[in-house]
Amino acid sequence: MAVPITPIRVGDVVRLKKPHPCGTNEWAVTRVGMDVVLECRGCGRKVRLVRYDFDRRFRGFVSRPWGEGGQGGG
Ligand SMILES: [Zn+2]
Repeated sequence: MAVPITPIRVGDVVRLKKPHPCGTNEWAVTRVGMDVVLECRGCGRKVRLVRYDFDRRFRGFVSRPWGEGGQGGG
């Protein structure tokens, strides 16, 4: 029942299953660790999710400044 870990990095912009109440569904990743901190691109509000919750709510990438990935790297 493990949820796959989404390879996100600070600077990625992601979409979640549910939009923010402000109507925006684009979130900038501002911190990655045990918790993931996301900033709403509509209103600027920050939310903090535990990693597991983030992976469950993750829907897709909007933009990835680091590239599409594929190279595991560091
Ligand atoms: Zn918002």
